[in-house]
Amino acid sequence: MAYISLYRKYRSQSFSELLGQEHITRVLRNSISAGRIAHAYLFCGPRGCGKTSTARLLARSLNCMAFDRPTPDPCGSCPSCIRIRDGNAMDVVEMDAASETGIDDVREKIIENARYAPAESRYKVYIIDEVHDLSQKAFDSLLKTIEEPPPHVVFVLATTEAHKVPITIRSRCQRLDFRRGATGDLTANLRRVLDAEGRPYEAEALFLLSRAAEGSFRDSLSLLEQVMAFTDGPITPDAVHQAIGAVTTEMLDTVVEAIGSDDLRAVLDAGDRVLASGADARQVLTALQNHLRDMLVVAFAGSVHGLEGATEERLETLRRQALRFTSDQLVAMLGALAQAERDIRFTNQHRLVLERALWQIMPSAISRQAAEAPAAAQSRRAVTAPTGGVAASHAPRISAPSPTVEPKSVPAPVEQAQPEPSSAAADSAPFATEVDLAVLQRIWPRVRSRVLQRSRAAAAIFGSEEVTRLDGTTVTVAFPTEFARSRADRPQARQMVESLLCEELRLPGYTVRYVVAQASPTVQEVPDQDQPGPAGSALLQQVLVEFPAAVVDDQDAQ
Ligand SMILES: [Zn+2]
Repeated sequence: MAYISLYRKYRSQSFSELLGQEHITRVLRNSISAGRIAHAYLFCGPRGCGKTSTARLLARSLNCMAFDRPTPDPCGSCPSCIRIRDGNAMDVVEMDAASETGIDDVREKIIENARYAPAESRYKVYIIDEVHDLSQKAFDSLLKTIEEPPPHVVFVLATTEAHKVPITIRSRCQRLDFRRGATGDLTANLRRVLDAEGRPYEAEALFLLSRAAEGSFRDSLSLLEQVMAFTDGPITPDAVHQAIGAVTTEMLDTVVEAIGSDDLRAVLDAGDRVLASGADARQVLTALQNHLRDMLVVAFAGSVHGLEGATEERLETLRRQALRFTSDQLVAMLGALAQAERDIRFTNQHRLVLERALWQIMPSAISRQAAEAPAAAQSRRAVTAPTGGVAASHAPRISAPSPTVEPKSVPAPVEQAQPEPSSAAADSAPFATEVDLAVLQRIWPRVRSRVLQRSRAAAAIFGSEEVTRLDGTTVTVAFPTEFARSRADRPQARQMVESLLCEELRLPGYTVRYVVAQASPTVQEVPDQDQPGPAGSALLQQVLVEFPAAVVDDQDAQ
């Protein structure tokens, strides 16, 4: 007998079994009961959260033969329900747009087919998975059928990327947004499956699997399959770690203990051991963030939100670990790790990014950054202060320190910079009378978001860059990596940014200069022998050797 995956074997057989999507099942059940069935549904949401299962349940509801009309509670045992469950129903057509993207596929499987009445049931149901992968022509031909659907046809279009589905299609569908499964729901589902399989397990193991699946029911079950293939015994945390190579709880405990004792060597050693076990740096960053987040929630929020399924022993360990930090420290640590997770996308020096992040989240590094924070807060206030607008041009100005701006380089207010009171854009566009660094820093996010609107590829480049300097009409923008800088600096891309910048400023002639960001303050302190860090200068010199890129960046930016 062919092996059936757990996900297929334990697919939800009724709306009440669909975990974590109650907001969807309520809408569907109500509209089925009221006889208000849409001709086209758009199911949006992350992979493995039940879109296809729900589509099949809808098909059963529409066609269950135990009732003489659509029902929210299909019987599950009539010939129609069974055919749909087994994927043998003539009137329920499933298509995977990821592999059948062309117009011929759509024409053959759907357009031609939809004209005929159902062969054996009330409705024909067309389920198109990953619908955003269809070609433009395929969408066009599909649109005609969706615009004037035969009365016996229901479309279910499922997608993980709704924004890629043409608006003409989207606007004709009833849209339902599926959620990522909560850890507690994933754990409950794993328990249901293991109970049915008669396989013993430890609660902690199910929690680990749920966490690793990141909200995907399908992933949690395929991870469970990996563990079951690895061992014939009970599903234990140890078996999970060995089978799926997850960062173990013990490893995270060791890293966190080392950070808590502010011992750089111990921290780097612990990081080393995690990487040596086969985990990759990105996994470690994610796992560590989850761990710190759990500490914060358990110890400072007094909650177990997101930790449903964790053992009491585990919760106690998290509480104990959290005692070594303040909540502010934990929040700052999370911020640094999140930044590292973004940085790691732009480099293949993964180990280096991880080690730098581990160093940055040590208590001594966090308090150094906090000591520097008042200055940063001062400049943030300046950035958000009202620097534009007619009234502000007469009021005293608050500016961020910008020593590089020569007074003579500030352009005088020009006539065309006056806002048009009748223009709809007047409210949203900033009115720049004097351009200084603070104005540019305030405007930049707007420039960035317009760039992102125009170019999908820009998302891999823009996001962490910052305006750092203004010389005359030359704006210096610092990127975290050379990769991002060089991509942004291609002529066409740069021209687009410059023209958007001038539009936002309502002033002509501004250009951008792209550099790689200087190393962070903690790294800059390294060569300073008079102010050794927490672990002494010899060790810091050793670390300096381990962070060569930071030093190179530093020189590049000079
Ligand atoms: Zn039935």
